[in-house]
Amino acid sequence: MVDDTMVERFEGCLVGGAIGDALGYPVEFDSYEGICGQFGQDGIRAYSIHPWAGCAQFSDDTQMTLFSASGLLQVGAGASDEECNSSVYGAYLDWLHTQDRMFAGHPGTSPLLAEEQLYSRRAPGNTCLSALYGGEMGLMEQPINTSKGCGGVMRVAPMGLYFEDPTRAVHVAAMAAAITHGHPLGYISAAALAYIVNRCVHSEAVSLAAVIDDCASQLPGWFDSERFYADSMARQLQLAASLAENDTCDHDDIVRLGEGWIGDEALAIAVYCCLRHHDSFDGAVIAAVNHGGDSDSTGAIAGNIMGAWLGMAAIGQQWLEQLELRELLTRTADELCEALHINS
Ligand SMILES: [Mg+2]
Repeated sequence: MVDDTMVERFEGCLVGGAIGDALGYPVEFDSYEGICGQFGQDGIRAYSIHPWAGCAQFSDDTQMTLFSASGLLQVGAGASDEECNSSVYGAYLDWLHTQDRMFAGHPGTSPLLAEEQLYSRRAPGNTCLSALYGGEMGLMEQPINTSKGCGGVMRVAPMGLYFEDPTRAVHVAAMAAAITHGHPLGYISAAALAYIVNRCVHSEAVSLAAVIDDCASQLPGWFDSERFYADSMARQLQLAASLAENDTCDHDDIVRLGEGWIGDEALAIAVYCCLRHHDSFDGAVIAAVNHGGDSDSTGAIAGNIMGAWLGMAAIGQQWLEQLELRELLTRTADELCEALHINS
């Protein structure tokens, strides 16, 4: 059922992800000490506005998230998971064209190709670039490489929104991540994020902690043939949940979960920040970017989850006004929400 609350959560998920991404992007490659040296002991807490663009720019994470959504929106009613994934693959090839206009192997069907502002390189991940240049679509059964980088998980929030059925969300998100990331943790983390987003918007969950707990217990069952890695991802989510209950400072807890360059760590850090600051969008995204690891990806994932859980009403005006392409993000979320009746 689509109601106003649901539209708010769809928009919150995509806009929130872009905000966390834009907040973390300027410090993606900085150490924690470097961030505190530049922004003060509380770290970065507000956008660094791009000097000539005059707005807060997001990175490849949000660009690719938009193309994930575009791929889903281009398939019609009744499409199978495989058909959805083929369309997402085509959309990623279109994204590659925005990064390299000379790249000619793209289908060119995504309406996003008309958005001139997307033709901008924002530190795109080498794994995504080389996998897509290769001209072969990676599959879970035929891994394209051994990468478990976070480039798979950081772009699949739209799968959690678009499919009401969590089983489909999980499956298509894992397939979409496996297009470029062949290690099980590269796509299991993506499946887990899609499930978390799905349960935030399409269930009557009583708390975010309950959603995470549910995800950790379901996860091993989805990946029978990769049980070792699924168990490992589940344990990391449980560790994130238990650390969120302690009274240690955010940064010390985050360090225990890793740096976020790889999929499972990025999801665990984002989940930790969301649980620690479960009623504050600001608290979660600020915590998620202030560490020495992949700040824009952990910020993007935390923003996706908090926006899906709390909705647009929880996102302050200071984040919205200077965010680049906010209308495109909102419109894309609305289109995913309108597409719900096709899939249900
Ligand atoms: Mg990035």
